[in-house]
Amino acid sequence: ESTLSKEELTPTDEKGFKGHDMLAPFTAGWQSTDFHPLVIEKSEGCYVYDNNGKKYLDSLAGLWCTALGGSEQRLVAAATTQLSILPFYHSFWNRTTKPSLDLAKELLDTFTARKMGKVFFTNSGSEANDSQVKLVWYYNNALGRPDKKKIIARNKSYHGSTLIAASLSGLPALHQKFDLPVPFVLHTECPHYWRFHLPGETEEEFSTRLANNLENLILKEGPETIAAFIAEPVMGAGGVIPPPATYFDKIQDVVKKYDILFIADEVICAFGRLGTMFGCDKYNIKPDLVSIAKALSSAYMPIGAVLVSPEIAEVINSQSDKLGSFSHGFTYSGHPVACAVALEAIKIYKERNIVEQVQKISPRFQDGVKAFSNSPIIGEIRGTGLILGTEFTDNKSPTDFFPPEWGVGVYFGAECEKRGMLVRVAGDNIMMSPPFIISPQEIDQLISIYGEALRATE
Ligand code: PLP
Repeated sequence: ESTLSKEELTPTDEKGFKGHDMLAPFTAGWQSTDFHPLVIEKSEGCYVYDNNGKKYLDSLAGLWCTALGGSEQRLVAAATTQLSILPFYHSFWNRTTKPSLDLAKELLDTFTARKMGKVFFTNSGSEANDSQVKLVWYYNNALGRPDKKKIIARNKSYHGSTLIAASLSGLPALHQKFDLPVPFVLHTECPHYWRFHLPGETEEEFSTRLANNLENLILKEGPETIAAFIAEPVMGAGGVIPPPATYFDKIQDVVKKYDILFIADEVICAFGRLGTMFGCDKYNIKPDLVSIAKALSSAYMPIGAVLVSPEIAEVINSQSDKLGSFSHGFTYSGHPVACAVALEAIKIYKERNIVEQVQKISPRFQDGVKAFSNSPIIGEIRGTGLILGTEFTDNKSPTDFFPPEWGVGVYFGAECEKRGMLVRVAGDNIMMSPPFIISPQEIDQLISIYGEALRATE
């Protein structure tokens, strides 16, 4: 039974307003009185329930984030215990809390792709990426390199939606009508082999070409003006795009050559999503800075973090000492309840060998869904670990798009929803990233609903 009244669910003009009250993120249609959003009321493991009691397999784990599913009582206990001891204290001006200190230490111990030096806490992935740019600028100013400020990101990337994070993102919808990107952000090519490789070009050759083009961009702009390069190990919201072979090796060689910092946006990839603790482990990335969020707390509390290399941390620390403070931070940076939940989440990931669990379960997921690759409306199914994207195109071609007004992706999404599964739809891209705890039976259910929805869409 719904806990929302009919009036709450059905906005009417007679009541003096048109549409729903919320200015909803990434949503169209809320201003229409005909618009009825799906209202989620409850979760249980890998499932969520709407306000009519209908149950859905949550194939996207919320927004790629509820890694431990929706009913992990240890996280609830961590939050309530911390709430009863100390619901809040800040981390400004030499004051802080134990959970934030403990979590910083835990994160430095957990990230082993290379040694990191310090942790800066945020409330989200967007704030983490915004903070990255400020840290990079502060660092270069401290080193007396005031011109080294531009950031190179990639087409189709998603880094969040604050002013800078949206600018870094390489998705036109995030820029249109917002006067973005800001001028110091540049975009280089998307490493999507299937779509962009030249006839006869191998993955390695494709990676070489992209690295060469990145180098040409750097040389054209002047290496002394380029501060950092930012990349998701596997692109998420841009359509789930794993890197082609040797891509990150070649890109890292280029950025290192010109003293450009590498920022790894691990907001989706971290804590096991790819079958490794971090995306950097999988692709041998040695970043200078890392952004994390989402699975950090399994989304039970909003929290993000920036991991800073020891070299950068040292420069920032000594500069801050000179200036009297490092004047950047948020009221809720290192929120004790969020940190307590994140500490417990990481403890669970380690105790339950979540990385091994993802490695074990992911072939069933990957192979099961990829078995539909020969569908006439599917261009490509791609992914690794527990992240998967499906792209609908005509004639199996990377460039024969279906007319947008056909709404193929939207139709498929609705067919899944009808059958009790939620997927992420972005145009004709379908994305799935189930909780790490998904069982073989739940994967089989996911595949079965996917198959039925596909047949209905064909
Ligand atoms: N970076 C990546 C790779 C993301 O996928 C996201 C969100 O989906 C963000 C950053 C932004 O995180 P948030 O929505 O927590 O601000």
